[in-house]
Parts: sequence; C-alpha cells; structure tokens
Amino acid sequence: MENSELQYLRRCVELATEALAVGDEPFGSVLVSAEGEIVAEDHNHVASGDNTRHPEFELARWAAANMTPEARAAATVYTSGEHCPMCAAAHAWVGLGRIVYVSSSEQLTAWLSELEVPPPPVNTLPISSVAPSVVVEGPVPELAEQVHELHRRFYTET
Ligand SMILES: [Zn+2]
Repeated sequence: MENSELQYLRRCVELATEALAVGDEPFGSVLVSAEGEIVAEDHNHVASGDNTRHPEFELARWAAANMTPEARAAATVYTSGEHCPMCAAAHAWVGLGRIVYVSSSEQLTAWLSELEVPPPPVNTLPISSVAPSVVVEGPVPELAEQVHELHRRFYTET
C-alpha cells in the first residue's frame, strides 16, 4: 500500500475517533478524486436515531449530487470499516470506483461477538457479494488494530 493511501486511511481512523468522541459508533470515510484530493468526508451519525446515517452512504449521495459519472467512476472511497450491504449498494448504484477499507465486516463481526453485542438487523456481507464489479482492497493490518480498539471503547466506555 502506498503512503498516500495510508494517509487517507489514517484520516478515516481520525474521523472514526471523532465519531466516538461525540458518542457515535466509530466509522469514518473519505472520498478521494482521481487527482488525489479529498473532496468529501464524513463519520457515522447514527446517534441521531437514524441508523442509515453511515458515512459511506452519505458520500455516495454526495457524489451523485456533486460529481459527473466519469469523476465518480475514477474516485476512490477510503473507509475505516468495510461497507455494509446498504452502503455497498449505494456505492454501486451511483457508479463510484474503488473501495479501500481498514477492517473487514468479518473482523467487525468477530469483534462485536467478542464484546457480546447483539447482531445487527442487516446481515453483514462482503462488498463483493453485494456489488461484484467494484474493485475492493482490504483489510489493512497496520491500522486494523486501531479500529478494533475504537469499537472496544465504544461498547465498554459508552
Ligand atoms: Zn453502511
């Protein structure tokens, strides 16, 4: 993995940390243009009571509203955790490009089970099962433990 890519992923972990600091689940994502510029970023906002407020979903809708189809296809979404099925579907529906995630849904499922968190109402599936044409890279072991720690803190400190 290139240094610039790790930088984007570190920003995702930072955003996830910000989410945790305001009492939300620790997920963060950035949308990077073909030119390497972060054009949008977000963290989870489900503490509002709306459980669809995932950052990847917000970025997909932002991209649909603000980027041409060509720019969307050439963009990359970096994210602290692999897209859930809802977000993977939104990503594919708006024609965004590659995805790079720090930790996989499989890892998250194992971590939450360790923490005895009840399973979510939507099955966790790999992105490739939902959006088979999207190029996906991850997990990234050098950052995954930081994301694990954020989830541990969310369920043990809040
Ligand atoms: Zn999601």
